[in-house]
Amino acid sequence: MSASAVRFADRLDKVETSAIRELFKLLGKPGIISFAGGFPDVALVDVDGIRAATLAALEQEPAGALQYGATEGYTPLREQLSSFMQSKGAPVAADQLIVTTGSQQALDLLGKTLISPGDKVIVEGPTFLATIQCFRLYGAELVSAPVDGDGVDVDHLEQLIVEHRPKFVYLIPTFGNPSGATLTLERRKRVLEIAAKHQTLIVEDDPYGDLWFDAPPPPSLLALSEQVPGSRDCLVHCGSLSKTLSAGLRLGWMIAPPELLAKAVMCKQFSDANSSTFAQATAAQYLKSGRMKANLEKARAVYAERARALCEGLRAELGDAIEFVAPQGGLFVWARLTGARGQVADGNEFSRRAIEQGVAFVPGAPFYCEQPDPATLRLSFATSDVEKIREGVSRLARALHAA
Ligand code: PMP
Repeated sequence: MSASAVRFADRLDKVETSAIRELFKLLGKPGIISFAGGFPDVALVDVDGIRAATLAALEQEPAGALQYGATEGYTPLREQLSSFMQSKGAPVAADQLIVTTGSQQALDLLGKTLISPGDKVIVEGPTFLATIQCFRLYGAELVSAPVDGDGVDVDHLEQLIVEHRPKFVYLIPTFGNPSGATLTLERRKRVLEIAAKHQTLIVEDDPYGDLWFDAPPPPSLLALSEQVPGSRDCLVHCGSLSKTLSAGLRLGWMIAPPELLAKAVMCKQFSDANSSTFAQATAAQYLKSGRMKANLEKARAVYAERARALCEGLRAELGDAIEFVAPQGGLFVWARLTGARGQVADGNEFSRRAIEQGVAFVPGAPFYCEQPDPATLRLSFATSDVEKIREGVSRLARALHAA
């Protein structure tokens, strides 16, 4: 190998670029129907509302919107987010949360502040791929707790906590990515009891909780922590405006015990000094305008219709070749090939055949930090209309029968 002036840090040995990236290169193929993406539908963004909010921010608070700001976040936005959390049953004062550059930054700050190389962190199997990569970058040894249609298996989780004494546990309890699963109310209470009993920090990542279909999900772990003595001090909650307002604003927030929040603010200072004040002032104006409610209602109805079309189509056209629990919200269906009657049972092989038929999804294996289940797949219904979804499912059915 030729000598190079670029000598990378050892920590980069721990992460590979995602296998999914290779798949995404194929999505440019003309006419392909994609269930592969993880993005919300940009057509559901309230552009008029954001335009009005942007103008209001520039007219009413130009200094706030265009100057550097406090690392903790722009006060009017922190106040709006505090009321938003309150409206969901989680009383959080504005100074108990910090604004982050997407909830992705909150995950990075947790890695920076909590993980030393070799530390154990428990995540769900499967979990959000970027979390696996991010925590591994800080040297975490990831241990996975199994997930079923009702979210993480809490008995197993407790055993793993006792066995591994993790630095923390990372969960996506509501409409998980990729699992689509929602932790039941009973299990939520158990998680909080376990956290308090073993004094284990639980990170609740909640970017999808507002995207419910027929009924709201159970209260967040944060909201429920009021009812379980000693659990509130064991909780970190990450929220995001990406799926509800706009992903392009890159705004999220984090609620954590005060000593952790203070260290996270210190690390954020060295990272981006502050999240875009322009975006924060715009988001604050938008939330103040009261348009969020109607826009969320519209998004929920659209996603619910698409989820229904995908689930009904899969049942009708793929029959016993595939099994899944229909999600109650969020953007994803997590499915498993059964291999019934000798049909394809490997996600990668099915993905290869599907692309030949003009439809894409993400094979599930990369979402596991240990022992992947090769029969799994993640299908997003977020960005295709019902007609496209139906056609995409027909192509999946053709791929099933093609060799
Ligand atoms: N957590 C989960 C579970 C996600 O699925 C995502 C993005 N899809 C994020 C965090 C990051 O979201 P953002 O940085 O846009 O808030």
